[in-house]
Amino acid sequence: MIKNYMEILVDEIFREMKNSYKICDDKKCEHDIKSIALNNLPTAYFKYDATEATKKAFLLERQRRISVLAKVAEASDIVCSECTRKQK
Ligand SMILES: [Zn+2]
Repeated sequence: MIKNYMEILVDEIFREMKNSYKICDDKKCEHDIKSIALNNLPTAYFKYDATEATKKAFLLERQRRISVLAKVAEASDIVCSECTRKQK
């Protein structure tokens, strides 16, 4: 199965933000936030021979996590601008 690792990272960051930033977790909003964020981020597919260490390094790279967090925050502002469940 070919996986876009950026999707995995966005899922992970979203989960973290849900805990610490009180980001909206309405099911529809969550879907839209992730979709918008992913449209604004490069895809990340690994070759067959890529090692687990390479994939893990991709997910843990600090600068990348910061960019993903920024994109998710930006997307949530767009999606939830009139969302009642948004908590500040
Ligand atoms: Zn929302």
